[in-house]
Amino acid sequence: MCSYGWCMITTRFAPSPTGALHLGHVYAAWQAWRAAGTAGGRYLVRLEDIDGARCTAPLALALLQDLAWVGLASDQPVRVQSAHMPDYAAVLAGLRARRLIYPCFCSRADIMREIAASGGAPHAPDGGAVYPGTCRSIDPSQAADRIAAGAPHAWRLHMQAACAEGGKLTYTELGRDHRPLEIPCNPAAFGDVVLARRDAPCSYHLCVTHDDAAQGITLVTRGEDLRAATGLHRLLQQLMGWVAPDYAHHRLLLGADGARLSKRDGAAGVAVLREAGATAAEVWRMASCAV
Ligand code: GLU
Repeated sequence: MCSYGWCMITTRFAPSPTGALHLGHVYAAWQAWRAAGTAGGRYLVRLEDIDGARCTAPLALALLQDLAWVGLASDQPVRVQSAHMPDYAAVLAGLRARRLIYPCFCSRADIMREIAASGGAPHAPDGGAVYPGTCRSIDPSQAADRIAAGAPHAWRLHMQAACAEGGKLTYTELGRDHRPLEIPCNPAAFGDVVLARRDAPCSYHLCVTHDDAAQGITLVTRGEDLRAATGLHRLLQQLMGWVAPDYAHHRLLLGADGARLSKRDGAAGVAVLREAGATAAEVWRMASCAV
C-alpha cells in the first residue's frame, strides 16, 4: 500500500538523540528497515534533535555509529532536524498568515494555575492536559506588541479553526496482515497544541509531519505510544497539503520493570552489549525476538 500511488515504499527510523542506542531503538529501526526491505524500498534515518538541551552532538554521533554497527544505517544521508529550522519557520509563517496559529505567553505554571482555577481540564489523547485557551482571544496587535517587547511565547494551533479547514479525516493503519484500516481522526481532543515551543522555534508535531512529507515517507512505522498523535498529524498534513503516509504502529519493547525501555536501562544499551562481547547479529536477534 502506498498513498503516493507511484513510488517505492520509503520508511524511516526517527530517534531523538537524548541517550544511547538501546534494544528498543534497534527493534523500531528493524521494523522500518524490514518494511522497506521486503518491498524493495528505501529505509531512512532521521535525527529528531530539536530539543537542544537534551540532544547533543556526541550522543547523535554515538547513536549513528551504534546503528551502523548493528547493520541498520540509513540508505541515504541522515536528515538532521536542527539543520532545517528555516523550513519549519516557513511553515509557521504560512499558518500565521492563515490565522491558524496564535502566540501563547503562558508559562507551564500559568497553565496549571488556570486549569486549577477552572476546576480541571480534559486530558488529551497523549495524556497531557488540554490547554485552557487563555491566550486564544488576545488582540493580535497587543500580542504583536508583547512579542516586540521580547515576551517569551509559544505558537499554538487554533484547533477549532484548523478542524473547520481540515474537515473529517481518517488515516490508514496497516494491520499485522498488512490489510489497510481507515482510522477516524479526532485531533480536536488535543486542544490547541504547541507548534513552536517557547524554547525552540518548532515542535515535535510540526517537524515530524513536515519531514515525513519532505522525505517522501510512504510508510511510518513507529511505537504504539505515538498512535494517539496520528490523528493530529493527519490534520497538519491536510492543512499543509502534504501527502499522508500510511502508518504501522508496533509494540514497544519493555524493560524488566514492564516500563518502556529508555536510556535508564543501561543493560539494554547496544554499546554495553557490544563491550560485553555480543555480536551485531546477537543484538539484532535480541531485539527482534524480545516482543
Ligand atoms: N522522535 C520520536 C521518538 O524518538 C519518534 C517520532 C516518530 O516516529 O514519529 O520518540
